[in-house]
Order: sequence, then structure tokens, then C-alpha cells
Amino acid sequence: MNVVDCSHHYENSMPVMDGIEPPSFVDLANVPSDGYAMSRYAFTNHSGTHIDAPAHQIDGGATLDEIPLTRLVTDALVLDLRSHAPGPISLEDLGDRVADVRANDLVLFCSGNDRNWGTSAYWKEWCYPDADASGALIGRGVSGVGFDGPSADPVESVTYDLHRVWLSAGCVILENLCALTALPARCPIVCAPLKVRDANGGPVRVLALLPEPGDTGTLPASSGRSGVTGTKVVP
Ligand SMILES: [Zn+2]
Repeated sequence: MNVVDCSHHYENSMPVMDGIEPPSFVDLANVPSDGYAMSRYAFTNHSGTHIDAPAHQIDGGATLDEIPLTRLVTDALVLDLRSHAPGPISLEDLGDRVADVRANDLVLFCSGNDRNWGTSAYWKEWCYPDADASGALIGRGVSGVGFDGPSADPVESVTYDLHRVWLSAGCVILENLCALTALPARCPIVCAPLKVRDANGGPVRVLALLPEPGDTGTLPASSGRSGVTGTKVVP
């Protein structure tokens, strides 16, 4: 099995949205002088590769620690939109691909925008579904959506309407993913956020599981609602 890491590094130089305080990763002790190493991390929970829970925008919405793990360890359906101009994707743009979406999928919009991480282009060069397209995906019973860009809304949005579409439906949103170009159209995926009580979102390690060529025995068969039906997840 091959594992593709779809998360960016957390580090002092990581890009954050305008208005968000830069993170701070400070060593408090190091092995040569103290005999041990220890650090202090400080960052806004909606920076870097992270997940939004419904509670991010919906009063009374599910918090991250309330999301069943079977919603986070499931199948990714990857939509390759690299030939599409950056910006909103309509229902017409999605076309027949909506039929490929299964219940509990995490639908990942691949724009190849991770190549722009750390540049000004990063904040505008990704694709995200418009309200109708989002509604169609939600209607398929998806677990959530993800982007190799910073948001479900354009960064200049102050109303976050598309966030509201997703989060009010109980879906999760993955932001600032990377390496989506390395994924097949469908694969098992593991999203492992920190277990912070009542979190409205937070950093997430996103790992896509790929069988090696000719290796069909390592992964459970991808079928039905989830490709990891053979994996027992105990909350
Ligand atoms: Zn967020």
C-alpha cells in the first residue's frame, strides 16, 4: 500500500489568510543543552490543512469531536478540475460526474493549486462548487468536501454563503489540502483531526491510501458506502 500525505506542514513560515494571526512554533528546550526537546505551538485552528465542523458557522451545529469517525475514514472521490478556470464550478460543469458520488464520500476538488502554496496566486487559483453544485453533492449524501485551496468561498467573501450551504447540511469542509493530483478518482482516505473538546474545526492530517500496482489484497475492496468497510472504527 502507498500512502499519500495530503496535508501541508505546520511551521512558522506557513501562509495564513489575511486577518489571521501568523502561527508560532517555539522550542522551549533542546537536547544538547537541556537533555530533552520540548516546544510550544500557537496557531489559529482554521489555518493550514484543517477541517471545518458545522459548529464553525452554525449555532448548535455539530462540533468536530461529535463527527462520527466513519465520516472521516471513508472514500475520497477526486474531481480533476485542472482544465477548468479557477473559481466556481457549476452543476453543468460537474455534469455526469455527480453520478459517481456515493453516500459518505469526501468529494475533493483537485485544481493543482497546492503548487501555489506560499505565493499570492494561492488565494485565487482553485475551484469550488457554487451553491447549486454544492446542493447536488449534498443531495448525494456526502460526508463533506475538500479543496487544494483556502476556502469553500472566494477569499474576498464576507458572508461565507457556500460555507453555510455545506455546514448547515451537517457536512465537513477540508481546506488547504495538497497532493490531490497524485490521487486516483476514488480511494480510501483517513482524516485524523486533533481531538479537542467542542472544537469548531482544527488541524487535520489527511492520508490517502493507494494500493500498489497489482496489490489487491492489502486494502479492503472499495464498494458501496465506503471503501473501508472492513476497517472497524471505534469512536
Ligand atoms: Zn476553516
